[in-house]
Amino acid sequence: TDFGFTRVPLQEKQARVDAVFHKVASRYDLMNDLMSAGMHRLWKDQFTAQVRPSRTGPFRHLDVAGGTGDIAFRVARAGTPKTEVTVLDINGDMLEVGRERAKKRGLADRLTFVEANAEDLPFPSNTFDAYTIAFGIRNVPRIPQALSEAFRVLKRGGHFLCLEFSHVDIPGLDRLYETYSFRAIPLIGQFVTGDAESYRYLVESIRRFPDAELFADMIAEAGFARPSFTRLSGGIVAIHSGWKL
Ligand code: SAM
Repeated sequence: TDFGFTRVPLQEKQARVDAVFHKVASRYDLMNDLMSAGMHRLWKDQFTAQVRPSRTGPFRHLDVAGGTGDIAFRVARAGTPKTEVTVLDINGDMLEVGRERAKKRGLADRLTFVEANAEDLPFPSNTFDAYTIAFGIRNVPRIPQALSEAFRVLKRGGHFLCLEFSHVDIPGLDRLYETYSFRAIPLIGQFVTGDAESYRYLVESIRRFPDAELFADMIAEAGFARPSFTRLSGGIVAIHSGWKL
């Protein structure tokens, strides 16, 4: 099953997503802080706490849709000098910001930046110990294809982790969140990047993304064992986990 995702013309979807991130790359980090009132930092901390780089041996980590590096930096810091983190993104502008930030943080030697598509990873099978994708998978046109690529490049025993917006399931909070996303976020986008439309598009992509139960089914369908998820902040985001066994 493709869970109905192919209804959107795929080429068009990726082109749209690329245009958004080319436009906002230089303001991306500031926008995250403003839109989430800093919450994205806590979500990312909680997410990367689930990656457990080996304390003794080599550890190869792949962060897909890694953008400006927030996830990769956290994993690199939690690891040892034997931890290698690859940041992959389809958008060279986002990666460029990531490279600069990595230098400033003294992490450049532990990170490799790769411009490529999540649907077609330029790595041999059974390469990585862990794979993360944060706020990225909902932008990928063929989600099942990206999940099957994640499965392919992980080693046996490898860990798949995804952080993504989900659906608020607390009465009251859901209405507040709707209003905030549809009214406030495009306004903040307009103010900071001069571009409300891109942020309207992002909000819409959050609304369309499947709920946590359905997404867990998709992860299982890609071959991952022990699929599980945790909702954070009343379901605004969810952390998904699965294993290649
Ligand atoms: N993971 C980072 C974070 O949490 O801050 C960045 C998330 S940002 C919302 C989404 C990223 O997904 C963008 O950098 C975008 O270029 C990237 N992206 C979109 N489609 C992609 C694809 N098909 N393959 C790889 N990356 C993609």
